Amino acid sequence: MTEAVRRWAVLPAAGRGERFGAATPKQYQKVRGRAVLSWSMRALLAERSICGIVVAVAAGDRRFKRLPEARDARVRSCIGGARRELSVAHALECLAGEARDHDWVLVHDAARPCLHRDDLRRLLNRAGRDPAGGLLAIPVGDTLKRGTEGGRVGATVPREGLWRALTPQLFRYGLLRRALMLCLTHGREVTDEASAVEALGIRPLLVPGRADNIKVTRPEDLSLAAAVLGGRR
Ligand code: C5P
Repeated sequence: MTEAVRRWAVLPAAGRGERFGAATPKQYQKVRGRAVLSWSMRALLAERSICGIVVAVAAGDRRFKRLPEARDARVRSCIGGARRELSVAHALECLAGEARDHDWVLVHDAARPCLHRDDLRRLLNRAGRDPAGGLLAIPVGDTLKRGTEGGRVGATVPREGLWRALTPQLFRYGLLRRALMLCLTHGREVTDEASAVEALGIRPLLVPGRADNIKVTRPEDLSLAAAVLGGRR
C-alpha cells in the first residue's frame, strides 16, 4: 500500500532583525496584541491539512515557548542557523525520519503575519499539483531603478516579466532538502527556497498572491500589518 502524501510547514524565525533595529526581534514585536510570529503560525495552524509545523528559533530564544501557539500539538521548534537558509535546513533536518521525500513542505517567513487563507489555499491547490512546486509571488508594479554607490540612478531596469517572491513556498520535502544541501555545500547564498530549487535546473510555478502579504522589515511595517489584520475581522 502506498503512503498518503502529507503536508508539513517550516517557519524560519531565527533572525535578529538587524534592519528592524530594535532590541526585540521583529518576529516578537506586537501587532494587535499578538506577536508577529503568532499571527504567522495561526495562519498555518488554521489549515488543518498541515500535519506538523517546525519553527526554527535563535539559540537562547526564551520568547517562543511563551507564545500560546507554541503549545499546539502540531508545533515543535528547533535551533536555527546564522542565515535564513541554514534555519530552514535545520528545520527540514528535524523532520528527517518522519517526512517522506514526496511529502509537501510549506516554508513561510515568521515575519509575514498577514498570510490570507485564500492565498494559502491557492498555493496548495496550484503548486501542490505541479511537479516542480511553486511560490506565492506578485508581478512588479513599480518602475525599477538600479542605484549607484553615490545614491544616484545608475539605470532603469525593465520590469516586464519580473515578480516579487513571497512566502509561503511549497516544495516536495526530498527535493527541497537536496536543493538546500547542494547550495550550502557550494557556499551559494540563497534568500528563498525557490532559488535553491532553481539551481537544480527546475522552474517553480509562480502563483499570484495578495499584495497585503507583507514582510515586516522596518518599524513602520507594524502599523501596515495592524491595518491589514484589523481590516479582516
Ligand atoms: O531578514 P529577513 O526578513 O530576510 O528574514 C526572513 C525570515 O527568515 C524571518 O522570519 C527571519 O526570522 C528568518 N531568519 C532565520 N534565520 C536567520 C535569518 C533570518 O530564521 N539566520
